[in-house]
Amino acid sequence: MDKIVRIDMGAEGGPQVRTESMGDYAGMGGRALTSSIISKEVPPTCHPLSAENKFVIAPGLLSGSAAAMSGRISVGCKSPLTGGIKEANSGGQAGQTLARLGYAAIILEGAPAANACHKVVINKDGVQISDAGDYKGLRNYDLIEKIKAEYGDKVAVMSIGPAGEMKMAAATVAVTDREMRPSRHAGRGGVGAVMGAKGIKAIIIDDDGMKMRQPKNPEKFKAANKTFNQGLRSHAVTGEGLPAYGTNVLTNVINEAGAYPTYNFKQGQYDDAGKISGETIAELETKRGGNPTHGCHVGCAIRCSGIYVDKDGNYITKQPEYETVWAHGGNCGICDPDAIARLDFLDDNIGLDTIEMGVTIGVTMEAGLIGFGDAEGALRLVEEVGKGTPLGRILGGGAALTAKAFGIERAPVVKNQAMPAYDPRAVKGIGVTYATTPMGADHTAGYAIATNILKVGGDVDPLSSEGQIELSRNLQIATAALDATGYCLFIAFAILDQSETFNAMVDTINGMYDLNLTGDDVVALGKKILSMEREFNQKAGFTKEHDRLPRYMRREAIAPHNVTFDITDEQLDTLFNW
Ligand code: SF4
Repeated sequence: MDKIVRIDMGAEGGPQVRTESMGDYAGMGGRALTSSIISKEVPPTCHPLSAENKFVIAPGLLSGSAAAMSGRISVGCKSPLTGGIKEANSGGQAGQTLARLGYAAIILEGAPAANACHKVVINKDGVQISDAGDYKGLRNYDLIEKIKAEYGDKVAVMSIGPAGEMKMAAATVAVTDREMRPSRHAGRGGVGAVMGAKGIKAIIIDDDGMKMRQPKNPEKFKAANKTFNQGLRSHAVTGEGLPAYGTNVLTNVINEAGAYPTYNFKQGQYDDAGKISGETIAELETKRGGNPTHGCHVGCAIRCSGIYVDKDGNYITKQPEYETVWAHGGNCGICDPDAIARLDFLDDNIGLDTIEMGVTIGVTMEAGLIGFGDAEGALRLVEEVGKGTPLGRILGGGAALTAKAFGIERAPVVKNQAMPAYDPRAVKGIGVTYATTPMGADHTAGYAIATNILKVGGDVDPLSSEGQIELSRNLQIATAALDATGYCLFIAFAILDQSETFNAMVDTINGMYDLNLTGDDVVALGKKILSMEREFNQKAGFTKEHDRLPRYMRREAIAPHNVTFDITDEQLDTLFNW
């Protein structure tokens, strides 16, 4: 991974491709690279859909190698949803294939001609960009079928659906999985809208003829990777819970903890949670001939994904993630797994963030547009988004915009981004992360659920205001560094609990690059990334007042614990003091 490809969409005579060396960006990958490029090259006050914004794709430092779990790919830009810097990462096959072709990043810049629709093909012979007018308007699954017919079923694809083409702030970038389904997504912050603004419908990555990336110190790498793998297998979450039930194993856990936001964050428990739990859905998948244990990319050792089929065994969608089941399920009072699966498929097909859309639908239910529990109504509303009707354009702009349009105060958003599946009043550590991360409300930015609820990496009482700032700070730092490596975030459970697994992870990086990094270097990297992102946001106009939860969460107590969010503003403002 020693080169960067830049595509100037606004060049005279049509898009121009330029390949260059890493220069100032040498030694970076994933989020470290996307955030460095955005910080250095994008004016913070620019319009996110303008020529000045850039769209960056970067595999992690270990992607394309034999390191287990290292296939994540980061997408970075200035976000049209939050107005701040954004990194959203995804599983699927693109990270591994792009890294094997030797590319550390693809940068799309400039503005294309009006109504342009292009595809980019990257293979061992280089990078070609060409017109893709015949792809225009296609939903992700139809698009991939067309690409399969042209390029075979061994390529990896990153694509946008109609939501990205319409430049909606809830639009994703889809990434194909091992079976070449567009089921994995860089979901948050409207990154798909920025790809759409660059006039690129699909990036087709073909690593035929390329070899796995080789470590500089093979013995060290191999030994460390083996210990790391053993550590994943021996931990209860990564070795048992996630493989058996996927991320939706959390439904019962979070519901029992009283932190399951229900009916647009009105209560912390959902009576029908058992009907949509990970255990119930895994059993249904197995009975119908689906598959509850599946890896989203080659080299995944945990295999938290799965295949959801209908009663006749036909594919409906991938096993919906916990956050999706919650967003379209409990948050909207919908307890039918098939309806949730159809909503998941529709989101993936149109190219929409399932969290943003579920929360948006919850807001429309609160507004009385449809009733809580109305699954067919929810499907109809998502279809409106796919068709780009005036109502659909509002909904596709996300929960904050929808709340404004319908006069609803109770919009569960931070920096305009919808909160995920954990109520911040009942799990205060995650509330601190939602409030302060430069990304907008994002559970993955500092997953305090691990320590607050799952008791991984220690035990901090979720209902107390004590210790939450430090917890979130440490997790945000660790996550920023992890997002640079290409490792899937779910390794966090094992590395937080088992020091030998953490050391093995660091040594795998050392073996790959023949370095002598320590845990302190990992912390320093995380701090550097966060500081850079925060500085970008400050220059874009963000102040400490943006590091806050909606005020109603300080006022409205949530059952069953009857708690409000009571971490003070002064405490929140200390998060980045290091
Ligand atoms: S653990 Fe899950 S999300 Fe992570 S790489 Fe494996 S299948 Fe993908």
